[in-house]
Amino acid sequence: MHPKAAVTPATPVQYLKGVGPARAEALAELGVHTAQDLLNYFPRDWRFAPEPTKIGGLRKGQTVCIIGIVEQTDYQAHRKTPFFEVMLADETGVCRIVWFHGKYLMNQIEPGQRLAAIGTVSEYKHQLQLTNPQFHILRADEPQDIEAFSGPVYPASAKLPSWQIKKIIQSSLDVLCEQLPEFYPQEFLKKNDFCGRSEAYRQIHRPEDEQAVQRALRRLKYDELFLMQLGLAVRRHQMEHQCRAFPMVWTEAIDRRIRQRFPFILTEDQETVIREIVQDMSRPVPMNRLLQGDVGSGKTVAALYAALLAVANRKQAAIMAPTEILARQHAESIERYLKGSRVRRALLVGGMPPAERERIAEQLRSRQIDLVVGTVALLEEDIAFADLGLAVIDEQHKFGVHQRAQLRKGAAPHCLVMTATPIPRTLAMTVFGDLDVSVIRNRPPGRGEVITRWVPPDKRREAMEFLRRQIQAGRQAYFVYPRIESENGSDENGRRKAAAEEYQLLSKAVFPEFRVGLLHGQMPAEEKKQMMAEFRAGRIQILVSTVVIEVGVDVPNATLMVIENADRFGLAQLHQLRGRIGRGQNRSYCLLFAETDNPEARQRLDVLTRTGDGFEIAEEDLRLRGPGELFSTRQHGLPDLKIANIVEDFDLLTFARKQAFELIRRDPVLSGPEQAALRKALIERFGASLGLADVG
Ligand code: ADP
Ligand code: MG
Repeated sequence: MHPKAAVTPATPVQYLKGVGPARAEALAELGVHTAQDLLNYFPRDWRFAPEPTKIGGLRKGQTVCIIGIVEQTDYQAHRKTPFFEVMLADETGVCRIVWFHGKYLMNQIEPGQRLAAIGTVSEYKHQLQLTNPQFHILRADEPQDIEAFSGPVYPASAKLPSWQIKKIIQSSLDVLCEQLPEFYPQEFLKKNDFCGRSEAYRQIHRPEDEQAVQRALRRLKYDELFLMQLGLAVRRHQMEHQCRAFPMVWTEAIDRRIRQRFPFILTEDQETVIREIVQDMSRPVPMNRLLQGDVGSGKTVAALYAALLAVANRKQAAIMAPTEILARQHAESIERYLKGSRVRRALLVGGMPPAERERIAEQLRSRQIDLVVGTVALLEEDIAFADLGLAVIDEQHKFGVHQRAQLRKGAAPHCLVMTATPIPRTLAMTVFGDLDVSVIRNRPPGRGEVITRWVPPDKRREAMEFLRRQIQAGRQAYFVYPRIESENGSDENGRRKAAAEEYQLLSKAVFPEFRVGLLHGQMPAEEKKQMMAEFRAGRIQILVSTVVIEVGVDVPNATLMVIENADRFGLAQLHQLRGRIGRGQNRSYCLLFAETDNPEARQRLDVLTRTGDGFEIAEEDLRLRGPGELFSTRQHGLPDLKIANIVEDFDLLTFARKQAFELIRRDPVLSGPEQAALRKALIERFGASLGLADVG
């Protein structure tokens, strides 16, 4: 019944020593089903407690562990620095323990409890005391010795306290560790100062000291990052080898003809990106490139270069934008570049008259169109290309990686994804780890600078007068609000400013002398278009809107932007919004109206006023909010990591990536016998999330 003799990593936890059906169920709730899962259930902390000292024998300056009974507790709320105080007694004396700001301890520590405290002895008013020590409440049902609070501390559940998890793991640890195969050759471990795999597991669950924990952590983090990158490398390899693409011919004559279309000299960044794109497109495997760059950095120019290269090779090219406004804008600017050219072009969007749509569909099928710009309408079933050579997908601020695959129907085209959201390198390596990444960092010359200021409530009036003078001088302004209607009732920060109401206020009371327009997402497309046209033509001076302007507007004379309740927006979104100004020659001003005491919100606003570098902002956003908040894991295929952190462990990630991609180049399906363990682990760990079920 209990095959205890043969415990392996695959053994269900129920058959491990100390685990019966009830505990197995409690473990299952923590996601632990097998012995292997248990090994991978990592502690959240480690404590190294010295042998307990009696209170009567304490000396100032010693780091000690004392165990006693809580005699008295008190929270001193009215001190300059409030603190929570405990009198702890053993049979040799009483010691005062103080935790500054320890209000949260009031409902944890109570008189009568047995408490262990680990800290350094200090003296206060001739009395010895411990200040802010680590502590552990010894419950009646757990071991009362040092074992209870020394060593690993596990994330516990109500049914399963940390010390029980520890006990379960300890009793099978050695026999399991002995069976763990090593992933890497000995010389690799030695050269990079990694400990062995079984050693790492042993030390993470039963460390000798702090240093051993760090060594074990480094190795286990590396394994996790390496497996993830290995998965991405495999996916990348599969993509390259399952599809063929048409290798585009590039000649100097073609290059010259394309360049003649641009009325400016390309920036250095654009040159680099174009070189990378041309190199990709000349290979017989599909390009898979992500092009990042702030709004206005000149991505469209690079994309158009790629499209024209395809057309020069007698292939069709498609540019897909996330919204109709953006698609039209792309089409318009492409029209400007291609005026008088023989390239046959078309626009395909959702709400077109059926006859026109059918005509374009037919022309795409019969190769009478070379370059089509459109929305997701391009993906509809009845749209087929005679010979699609390049698909450009402009995602602007979204990361809809999901659509990437769809334009690939039939023979695989080369694929270029553009995004205006600067993605920190760390994330690009994980989310888009199977894509090549190009970056445009520096904007084309001759753009106006954008000055960003945070305007607190008492400076509003002043700010409005400033705006009035600017608009009188001929500039135009955006006023952006988080929503259209204000919420019913009020939330903790009072009502959020709503676009529709503020529109009334601004047009009637604040700026009666100017023409004010309102734009929001729920307006019919036709009205939106008209409103934008009015604004672009300068007939409207102030455009009040929700975030719909985030995607879609390019009005060089609009140099002013007010963002209301700016603290309600994310950093990336604020930066994105701000990209709508600073598009002409004149200096632009972005005013962030916000009333907030929230330190994190303030920090966010400070970042924006300090820098205009999208990448710096993105890194900061990542640091402040963490990857989980920036990307929903499922939608973006960001594999969840248990132990490594892509921000903190960036160096390890870079190294793992290099090693993983090298290995897949040498052994694409990990067929070598020495890779068997790695291959198994890869499928177990990331097979599902990275869609690798069919490795090999
Ligand atoms: P993005 O697609 O990244 O938002 P665009 O390619 O639309 O950027 O370029 C933004 C603006 O800058 C356009 O008006 C474009 O004409 C101009 N532009 C692009 N590249 C250059 C350049 N090398 N020199 C001067 N202006 C440029
Ligand atoms: Mg653009």
